[in-house]
Amino acid sequence: MSDKQRKILVTGGAGFVGSHLCGNLLKKNHKVICMDNYYTGSEKNISQFLNNENFEFIEHNIIEPFDLKVDQIYNLACPASPPHYQKDPIYTLKTSIWGVLNVLEVARRNGAKMLQASTSEVYGDPNISPQLESYRGNVNTMGPRACYDEGKRVAETLCYEYNKRFDVPVKVVRIFNTYGPQMDPEDGRVVSNFIIQALRNQPITVYGDGQQTRAFCYVSDLVEGFIRFMETGPEIIGPINLGNPSEMTVKQLAELVIKITNSSSSVEYLSLPVDDPLQRCPDISLAKKILSWNPEVSLLDGLRETIAFFATQLSSK
Ligand code: UDP
Repeated sequence: MSDKQRKILVTGGAGFVGSHLCGNLLKKNHKVICMDNYYTGSEKNISQFLNNENFEFIEHNIIEPFDLKVDQIYNLACPASPPHYQKDPIYTLKTSIWGVLNVLEVARRNGAKMLQASTSEVYGDPNISPQLESYRGNVNTMGPRACYDEGKRVAETLCYEYNKRFDVPVKVVRIFNTYGPQMDPEDGRVVSNFIIQALRNQPITVYGDGQQTRAFCYVSDLVEGFIRFMETGPEIIGPINLGNPSEMTVKQLAELVIKITNSSSSVEYLSLPVDDPLQRCPDISLAKKILSWNPEVSLLDGLRETIAFFATQLSSK
């Protein structure tokens, strides 16, 4: 990567992934404008950057038009965990459609590159595994996940069309399950829920029989993939999967978290949410080839870091 200082907008920069991205870009000495409306993001995620002269925060909802002169945009603004994106499905759709249009307009007007945070949810409940980028998905337009899945699918299409019509250099990354410090304890995600429950010695809530699979990527690996993708030439638009292909069942994750935390928690089986994908695992051959990217943090190391983060959070309460 070149050392040239760039002016970079991170929408959703006060969120879990966004704040890690801001930190990484600041370390590389870029000027970072973090935009967030704190719908799911939080001020405490960015408090450590507020005294950095290269960091600026703008409180704004991307659903409303805006303009900024920047070189690059990472568009991460969108509620991403099922309980959050299902709270107000129309708002989630507006964020993925109106919001992405507004961000693409900023990129078009200012000649900026734009990386769109898409998702493995575009594959829906996949009937092939692992999922390759060429797989077109098995998505329900009507279910509780539709506002997110279909919104993100439209968002991708908007990116490809802005690239075709206006030559906006877009980069579409499909993010698979990601975890790490600064996850919101209220997010309702499997990793955060299990760790908090285990640390409190409360029952671990496994939905369904726990045989559904996921593959968990540590946040620093994901962010490294974003930056590598952003630095590619304009001909590379994606989509590119980013995730850790070590697939496991939710039940195995529960057992592992209990073991590492030395918890006395038992496992409690609750009903499986509607349309919960039964399997999910990225095929990352494309990311390996184009970005020379490979996740480096093992699940054990990543979980240890994440557990330490939540332990501090719980003890400071
Ligand atoms: N899950 C679970 N218990 C929880 C939270 C989630 O068993 O307390 C399951 C959920 O049903 C799904 C998987 O864990 O099968 C991953 O859920 P998460 O919400 O983290 O992400 P998703 O991949 O579904 O977007």
